[in-house]
Amino acid sequence: MLLPTDADYLTECATFNLMTPVRPAVAVGATGVADVRAAVRFAAERDLPVAVLATGHQVVGAAEGAVLINVSRMNTVQVDPVSRLARVEGGTRWQQVLPETDRHGLAPVSGTSPTVGVVGYHLGGGASPILGRKHGYAADHVQAVEIVTADGELCRVTADSEPDLFWALLGGKGNFGVVTALEFTVFPVESLYGGGLFFAGEHAAEVLHGWREWVVDLPVETNSSVAFLRLPARPEVPEFLRGTFALHVRFTSLQPREKADRLLAPIRALAPTVRDTITELRYREAGSIFLDPPTPVPSVARSTMLRDFPAQAVDALLARVGPDSGARLGFVELRPLGGALAGPPAVPNAVPGRSAGWQLFGSGGGRPDLAPAFREELTALLGAFAPWAQDEIMPNLLSDWQGTTPAELRLIYGSERYDRLVAIKKRYDPHNLFRVNHNITPA
Ligand SMILES: Cc1cc2nc3c(=O)[nH]c(=O)nc-3n(C[C@H](O)[C@H](O)[C@H](O)COP(=O)(O)OP(=O)(O)OC[C@H]3O[C@@H](n4cnc5c(N)ncnc54)[C@H](O)[C@@H]3O)c2cc1C
Repeated sequence: MLLPTDADYLTECATFNLMTPVRPAVAVGATGVADVRAAVRFAAERDLPVAVLATGHQVVGAAEGAVLINVSRMNTVQVDPVSRLARVEGGTRWQQVLPETDRHGLAPVSGTSPTVGVVGYHLGGGASPILGRKHGYAADHVQAVEIVTADGELCRVTADSEPDLFWALLGGKGNFGVVTALEFTVFPVESLYGGGLFFAGEHAAEVLHGWREWVVDLPVETNSSVAFLRLPARPEVPEFLRGTFALHVRFTSLQPREKADRLLAPIRALAPTVRDTITELRYREAGSIFLDPPTPVPSVARSTMLRDFPAQAVDALLARVGPDSGARLGFVELRPLGGALAGPPAVPNAVPGRSAGWQLFGSGGGRPDLAPAFREELTALLGAFAPWAQDEIMPNLLSDWQGTTPAELRLIYGSERYDRLVAIKKRYDPHNLFRVNHNITPA
């Protein structure tokens, strides 16, 4: 247990997003279930809120006055290739799971970034850019959750043992307790062919219009997203992208190389590429495709989900972040959804947003001094997409300045789902101990 005056307090509180620091009353570095239980009881007895930190990719509040439970030391991974089940502890990152599943030719429904926490990712939905349209959300494949609830007890929750809590946990994020372990199904993946096509920003209009028409017909085994990149001239940025504006078409396919190349041919022909990095990969290397920052950065982000993305929406995007827009946002990504992401989940859960056809994510990073300008640009970008946006959004997409009131969360979850979450919150956390999050208030 560390207090603000202790030497290691700031290290214990370190977050991946440097724009969202946490400064709790007490920081607890948990090494196992007993520590988590003790910390939850300590907080409950003193009526202090509990905040959970695994990696700090999605911090919602500064946790002032709270007991922060840092679960990052709890990161044991077990994979059973026969049952195709993975079991991870509460603070595990994807980069700790991928080598273990890969050695058995298996893959989890993981996201773009290897540094993201596995539990936070599942509790907020979990949209995989490679396996999502084939298998659905990561939350749809959770088999068991071990969780310390507000009474300090450890429960093993399955869809059969406690159907309401199980449903609420998967989508309701950290509102119901501290997850100490998660078990989920993993899938056979024989081969992966993927990488990026980089186009100079001046070709943005023809590439984006062509890509939009092409991408909607891709089979679920083959996926693509597109990102507008305005990256600084810094050593951590690949040399050919330093200080440039580029369009990054990301491509992944579980299909054989020849077939995938045939699918990709029309995009390769849209304009000259600055770089083509598409090649055969192991699934554990997939993070290299998406260029997410490997080390902590200050970042301001905001996202939404779209019902559709017609040609007028391409023009709206180009007007906001295209070559002549004067935009400063470093990263704006558009990702098609659909397939199994739109279908009924394999296990019941509270993940909202399934009717969305697309997700739009924008961020400005590296420049805390530009945070107000980034917020302004992101608000304008999402405003321009209002005609195609939907209210329901996967919780993983929410930033610290989105979904911060009950009225907003009711829209984000949809009324029926939100009311059920509130009822379950009343039952399992009536005093709202777990409120340093996108908070489902029990009142
Ligand atoms: C670069 C980047 C790429 C991403 N790519 C994707 C993607 O492809 N698909 C996708 O779906 N999402 C993606 N995300 C979103 C990501 O899934 C969420 O930000 C997720 O919440 C991160 O969890 P974390 O543990 O890393 O972060 P943290 O900030 O440590 O945790 C976020 C919240 O999750 C909850 N939480 C985490 N661990 C526990 C636990 N053990 N018990 C209880 N609650 C817990 C808490 O409410 C906590 O406040 C991405 C985010 C970033 C920054």
